[in-house]
Amino acid sequence: MNNKFENYEKFLNVIDDDLRKIFQYQSEYIECKRGCSLCCRQGDYPLSSIEFDYLMSGFNLLDEDIKNLIRQNIEALRNCDKTSYICPFLINNCCSVYNYRPFVCRAFGVLTEDSKGNPSFPFCTTKGLNFSKIYDEEKKHLSSDLVKKNNFKIFPKIFRLSNNVLMNLPLAKELNIEFGEAKKLVDFLIQD
Ligand code: SF4
Ligand code: SF4
Repeated sequence: MNNKFENYEKFLNVIDDDLRKIFQYQSEYIECKRGCSLCCRQGDYPLSSIEFDYLMSGFNLLDEDIKNLIRQNIEALRNCDKTSYICPFLINNCCSVYNYRPFVCRAFGVLTEDSKGNPSFPFCTTKGLNFSKIYDEEKKHLSSDLVKKNNFKIFPKIFRLSNNVLMNLPLAKELNIEFGEAKKLVDFLIQD
């Protein structure tokens, strides 16, 4: 049977491999564990059309009772603050569509680079989680002194992982991936 996501899945496999290496590289600073779902509770989850279609292909495989819970969560988003809301696919503190999640979720928790080349900390840094031990709260910046003081072995390298960077990788062009329109998850899910 023709798989319309064949090339997208090839692309995802490469991205996942790279992300595994990045998480491994930054592992001293990572506190992620199963059941920690803060990153799915306050975001806007931007994604492209192909990512959304792939996410929904995962949703379609779920049992009907889980689908109904998700449908209720989606309905509850109707009047939400679109800048920060609980992802409707979060069920019992776990992602119900884990293998189908968008890029932004795959990169949750990593120290990345913002558009000006500065370190961009995951939001959970200020909640005492990833990278919190090397974050200078006052200066709102990475602290080399804290890296030394805590005896971390590897200075945290910063990676460029924005959706824009990923979608413009040469591999995406090689695989002829059409990402389509990008918007917030809630705007894909709820149309007036
Ligand atoms: S799709 Fe999954 S990983 Fe992404 S925010 Fe929703 S529940 Fe979390
Ligand atoms: S990125 Fe932060 S909030 Fe999300 S699972 Fe990891 S430690 Fe928890």
